Amino acid sequence: MSEYYNVADIFGQNVFSDKVMQERLPKKVYKELKKTIDGGKDLDPMVAEVVAEAMKQWAIEKGATHYTHWFQPLTGVTAEKHDSFITAPRADGTILMEFSGKELIKGEPDASSFPSGGLRATFEARGYTAWDCTSPAFVREDAAGAILCIPTAFCSYTGEALDLKTPLLRSMQAINTQAMRLIKLFGNTTSRKVTPSVGPEQEYFLVDAEKFEQRKDLIYTGRTLFGAMPPKGQELDDHYFGTIRQRIASFMRQVNEELWKLGVSAKTQHNEVAPAQHELAPIYAEANVAVDHNQIIMQTLKRVACQHGMKCLLHEKPFAGVNGSGKHNNWSITTDDGINLLEPGKTPHENIQFLLVLACIMKAVDVHADLLRESAADVGNDHRLGANEAPPAIISVFLGEQLQDVMAQLISTGNATSSKSGGVLQTGVKTLPDLFKDATDRNRTSPFAFTGNKFEFRMVGSRDSIASPNIVLNTIVADAFCEACDLLEKSEDFDEAVHDLIKKYLTDHQRIVFNGNGYSEAWVEEAERRGLPNIKSMVDAIPSLVTEKAVDVFGKFGVFTRAELESRVEIKYENYAKAINIEARTMIDMASKQIIPAVIKYTKSLADTVIAVKAAGADTPVQSELLAESSDLLSDTKVALAKLIDVTDQAAAMPEGREQSVYCHDVVMSVMEELRAPVDKLEMIVDKEMWPMPSYGDLIFEV
Ligand code: ADP
Ligand code: MG
Repeated sequence: MSEYYNVADIFGQNVFSDKVMQERLPKKVYKELKKTIDGGKDLDPMVAEVVAEAMKQWAIEKGATHYTHWFQPLTGVTAEKHDSFITAPRADGTILMEFSGKELIKGEPDASSFPSGGLRATFEARGYTAWDCTSPAFVREDAAGAILCIPTAFCSYTGEALDLKTPLLRSMQAINTQAMRLIKLFGNTTSRKVTPSVGPEQEYFLVDAEKFEQRKDLIYTGRTLFGAMPPKGQELDDHYFGTIRQRIASFMRQVNEELWKLGVSAKTQHNEVAPAQHELAPIYAEANVAVDHNQIIMQTLKRVACQHGMKCLLHEKPFAGVNGSGKHNNWSITTDDGINLLEPGKTPHENIQFLLVLACIMKAVDVHADLLRESAADVGNDHRLGANEAPPAIISVFLGEQLQDVMAQLISTGNATSSKSGGVLQTGVKTLPDLFKDATDRNRTSPFAFTGNKFEFRMVGSRDSIASPNIVLNTIVADAFCEACDLLEKSEDFDEAVHDLIKKYLTDHQRIVFNGNGYSEAWVEEAERRGLPNIKSMVDAIPSLVTEKAVDVFGKFGVFTRAELESRVEIKYENYAKAINIEARTMIDMASKQIIPAVIKYTKSLADTVIAVKAAGADTPVQSELLAESSDLLSDTKVALAKLIDVTDQAAAMPEGREQSVYCHDVVMSVMEELRAPVDKLEMIVDKEMWPMPSYGDLIFEV
């Protein structure tokens, strides 16, 4: 790593950026490509040929030996297959470096081993990757050397999406079309395109690699399956925003440098609430690029951690009883000429376009709360949502004092005549500057909060792709815009019609607004009275993908066909059951081969002591009590272990699908808890030297 450098000099240096394209492509080709990128004009194969040649030259100058199509199948991680640029040796034994337009545009990985959820029989293995020219190609440097990575979508032979990017791009088209209709109604003639912007805040844990290697649960599942709480947790809040320790700082420094080179605008870094927990946030970008960049961020965090003798844990709940990790998905919609449709201005009550946009979003979130909830469902996130730290599993919208007040005026009198302002912050110290307050305080317990000029969806899991929540947001908001435009475009008196519509939407959907404490039990009851869904687990969330309502809204905008939705449901059930199966088998392995043998050794040493002390004529009340206690817990452990083996086998014997997943959730998971309970108690009794793995304390306080 270089000593000191100017960030501006290295930023984007490994990206085939707009600037590089302007420099390296003939003007005409550049213009044609821009038409495709900006306006969706079909890509001319001749243009692709020239771009491929320029891209290859540029990548080779960066030291690249290989290229890969880089895509996001439904495995939860990205996929790649490297091909070197070399051609077959010529007669004189030398080679050329080649990369054609065809290779740039289309790849054909054998798709049979990627999840397709019944969309494709394995004998029809063809799947295609298609160049996404709206997300720039980049050269990644790692132990494999330098690789040209080309972001691509992944589809089946019949054009069905097998990935997360294809539906995301479709949803971006939908919201573009509908938002353009909406702003035209308000007289906008200058904007040509509307794009969702996304800024995801990524939380993660860092643990020492040597200790990680001693925990099979971390190795196989990404989270600890056993572990007693250390004497100190996060109760003092002394880690949050605390001084960053040198080992971590040096890691963060390298992460930033690598991300900047890849054009990822890493901006904010800080210690998070839990010991060993941290956060990284980039500056927001177009949804599609933001999703790709978030994948790059996760991969970079993992790779760089290894170089620093650490492991990065992206799991949503690596340690029970300790704060988990999420990913706040900040979302707004902006025109190509820089107008943010979620900007209320100083006097939101006069900003009719903003109020309509807001009313539409409230309607969308209320009508499709189940879909939004599903978009954040993943196996690890089940341990977080509703567990008193992350937002609850109930979707609600936080508007804040100012907008809440405007909304109340609109609903009660039909007219809003004022907007509360923030005023000046009084610190009581003359030498401190006067600060102008935001009109609204924050609410950290709300899953979907308005934060000034964007919505922050806080449910997303730390390990999950942010594609799904953005697909849902774009689609459901596009639908609400579409319905509003259908009415307003026909209206004779636009001002009156828009006024009535805003009032109607706000009135009809006010139940989704909640400004109070989302973690409280009272809210759970209140939400039930309001009829808001409280979907507690992933298995309960999955069916919302294929309700008639969901099939209609996704179908209407061409985001998902029914078959695509059904395939995703199938894959999700499968993934859920597989993940629980791996966790259960890991517990079985650890309990049988590590924990029970260790406790046997410990009880034997106690028994030996008891015999020896008694032989010497003394009494052994403490040793005998410990022996009895640990022997009892050992037998509880053995009983629970046998039960876990049994239910895990039963789950494995069931056909894949909903029933199996529900069984895993209801039965296997609870038996896992039964096994964990006596083991965690034993950990508090058994001699630390004999315990076969590092404790929570060792893992999170000694990084
Ligand atoms: P917070 O104080 O809530 O953490 P930040 O200002 O730090 O908010 O922003 C958090 C994330 O939201 C960052 O990634 C930031 O770039 C992003 N963000 C800021 N403004 C917008 C916007 N208009 N649209 C989408 N994301 C945004
Ligand atoms: Mg933040």
